Amino acid sequence: MNNYLDSVLKDVKIKNLNEPEFIQAVNEVLSSVEPILDVHKEYEDLSILERMVEPERIIMFRVPWVNDNGKIVVNRGYRVQFSSLIGPYKGGLRFHPSVNLSIIKFLGFEQIFKNALTGLPIGGAKGGSDFDPKGKSDAEVMRFCQSFMTELYRHIGQDVDVPAGDIGVGGREIGYLFGQYKRIRNAYEGGVLTGKDICYGGSLARKEATGYGLLFYMREMLSAHGQDLKGKTVIISGSGNVAIYAAEKAYQMGATVIAMSDSNGVIIDKKGIDLDLIKQIKEVERGRIKEYMKKHSDVTYIENTPNYSPIWEIKADIALPCATQNDITLEDAKKLVLNGVFAVGEGANMPCTYDAIEYFHHNGVLVAPAKAANAGGVATSAIEMSQNSIRYYYTFEEVERKLENIMINIFNDCKNAADTYNLGSNYVAGANIAAFKKLAEAMKMQGVV
Ligand code: NDP
Repeated sequence: MNNYLDSVLKDVKIKNLNEPEFIQAVNEVLSSVEPILDVHKEYEDLSILERMVEPERIIMFRVPWVNDNGKIVVNRGYRVQFSSLIGPYKGGLRFHPSVNLSIIKFLGFEQIFKNALTGLPIGGAKGGSDFDPKGKSDAEVMRFCQSFMTELYRHIGQDVDVPAGDIGVGGREIGYLFGQYKRIRNAYEGGVLTGKDICYGGSLARKEATGYGLLFYMREMLSAHGQDLKGKTVIISGSGNVAIYAAEKAYQMGATVIAMSDSNGVIIDKKGIDLDLIKQIKEVERGRIKEYMKKHSDVTYIENTPNYSPIWEIKADIALPCATQNDITLEDAKKLVLNGVFAVGEGANMPCTYDAIEYFHHNGVLVAPAKAANAGGVATSAIEMSQNSIRYYYTFEEVERKLENIMINIFNDCKNAADTYNLGSNYVAGANIAAFKKLAEAMKMQGVV
């Protein structure tokens, strides 16, 4: 690694000592932008890297709310407004007990690059809370969301910062957050949140966008290598928003999804996962994936245990990690390679560890990197914002067509960057370089801010 990169990375490690996920995300990007720094020596003089790794603003706040037993519960809220370089801050909110500053900063950092890849005018941010919606009543979730927004509202706006969903934040949560924002502001600002329901300003195909986008990217990547999805077997971790719509598009493209999971365990159904049943369990009943067995007794269910994901032991052609970060470790990667997997598509953010990705590359496995491959969600959020601005709505087909074109362009950008810098089929580095170049140039033009 060149001296400039090395010194910035050392500094990041010192300044963010207790933030391993953030350091991991920065390390992954910095390790791959060396070729472009060699060409653009001026980036060092302009301290481009130092500015890119430091969030513009971090907001942390108390979120007190009352549970159904009348007890006052206190959670912690976060919003990291990382970069407004190319548009209003934009990125989801995550409600999960594992949320801390390191997780939100890593997600916010990734978001800057992802949003730049979409080619749309959106900056990067992320937020959330250590609140766990699982097992809470709708009334508890509503009270929490109202309290969260009572602080957050002063930091966001349709031209300032536009949050959306992420783990634990779906249509229900966005609805409660939007209602409270509207009440406090005494104005309908449709574009302040995305992922809204269609009936009050959401976009058709937003719900499907991240999963569908992942498959569009996968199709492009496979096609560049003379392959396609027809007849392939697919394993998908998670059974939330991204996982469900990745599975739906995989089926539409002729593949068969043979396993899906949640944080408790994995369902293996060799006939092909019954996606309508998964939607019923997860989207309607908010239940556990294990309940799949009540209707299909001829399937296998394996419980997860700490640090062990049985899903990556299943033999399949394509693996789509769509649950959470660091889901595929080096050990998992070895099992997947041994079982003949030939492509991995990152639906979740940073689902593969750095050494797992390196192992895949050394073994000829194609990797569709999260920043690029799951950018369809935020891209469609930007399309939702633009529909809110023009007060006009596109059909499902129109939005899906725009999404497909954006994903094709993103893949081409990653491939062109990989070709330009002789990186072969390393689209992880390709994505980092393509996004980094856009951001660095914008930073150069905007002066020292
Ligand atoms: P959801 O909350 O809808 O679903 C998350 C899924 O992952 C659930 O099935 C959940 O299981 C599972 N999961 C969560 N944590 C763990 C864990 N520690 N171990 C095993 N399984 C786990 O979230 P999304 O589908 O929206 O998000 C999934 C990933 O995709 C995240 O990394 C997110 O950042 C990323 N992403 C999401 C986008 C979007 O538009 N929604 C856009 C781009 C990226 P359980 O129900 O048991 O908790």
